[in-house]
Amino acid sequence: MILAPAARPTRRVLLPATLDPAPPPLGGRVHEFSGRTMGTTWNVRLVAAVQLRREPVLEAIQSALDEVVAQMSTWEPASDLCRFNRAAPGTWQALPDAFAEVLACAREVAERSEGAFDPTAGPLVDAWGFGPAAPLGRPGGAGLSEALGRTGWRRIDLDPVRRSVLQPGRLALDLSAIAKGFGVDLVARRLAALGIASHLVEVGGELRGSGVKPDGQPWWVQLEDPDPASPGCGTVLALHGLSVATSGDYRRWFEHDGTRYGHTIDPRDGLPIRHGLASVTVIHASCMQADAWSTALGVLGPDAGPALANRLGLAARFVVRRGTRFEERTSAAFERLLD
Ligand code: AMP
Ligand code: MG
Repeated sequence: MILAPAARPTRRVLLPATLDPAPPPLGGRVHEFSGRTMGTTWNVRLVAAVQLRREPVLEAIQSALDEVVAQMSTWEPASDLCRFNRAAPGTWQALPDAFAEVLACAREVAERSEGAFDPTAGPLVDAWGFGPAAPLGRPGGAGLSEALGRTGWRRIDLDPVRRSVLQPGRLALDLSAIAKGFGVDLVARRLAALGIASHLVEVGGELRGSGVKPDGQPWWVQLEDPDPASPGCGTVLALHGLSVATSGDYRRWFEHDGTRYGHTIDPRDGLPIRHGLASVTVIHASCMQADAWSTALGVLGPDAGPALANRLGLAARFVVRRGTRFEERTSAAFERLLD
């Protein structure tokens, strides 16, 4: 995701109705912070007094992201998620608050997308080498059917009162398609708790913005495009109380016998998506939701994806690969954001 220049651009512009057309200029200045998390980078821009003490702010941001990794990473064997995945069959595992919140949301998106999004797709992710377990490539032998047999969001038995989840046996959670977005939301929450109301938070391309800058302008961001030739390329969005997330086959993929396999897997047949959708961008108040839905709609593809986005009122943009060319499809809620 590219940060757009401060001045209001003349390109295609998305403006939320919540934005006051002439917000008053504020005091303070924009401070920038950055670091690493979840195998990628994070960036935060925020408005605060010129003499802001940076240390406590940096510490608040990094510790929020470290918390997400410690609870939900598939790449950290000591994480709560990996501990759950290794737990003995028939045992109830207590979840920390954030993990429980993300899992509950993941299960809801799984249900509403009829299994296109599936937080139990861990064995499939591993079978294709998109996880830490194996190198990229087609699964051999009975690997795929074995992984499919272990996958299924309906196997998640979550007790919301005790915040516990049952390990029914070899259920392997993977929250990589939603945890980054949650990390963005958590950082935004921690900044708000520090009294920092105007901020733009980005983790690995997923963004959330609140408030306006000292000059009264909102946080402008440019939507991520799979290719400079895609129609609608360069669209900018005022992130005012909104988040944006993009899922795309250009981020991580491999090619086999001329077919391009992206890192998103259709849990219904166990195969990486290959329907020609180059990217899906979702705009939502919650970055966790935007992240999960961009993956879910990406699995559904160029026809079922926009249809479900319209049924659920989600603001989504699809870039479809047509040979060497690209085609754009947008949902009605996305169109309503256009200036
Ligand atoms: P994202 O970039 O947000 O679309 O997330 C992609 C990651 O989510 C992959 O690397 C997998 O770890 C995981 N994943 C792949 N397919 C699915 C799926 N259908 N539902 C949920 N998570 C998935
Ligand atoms: Mg996602």
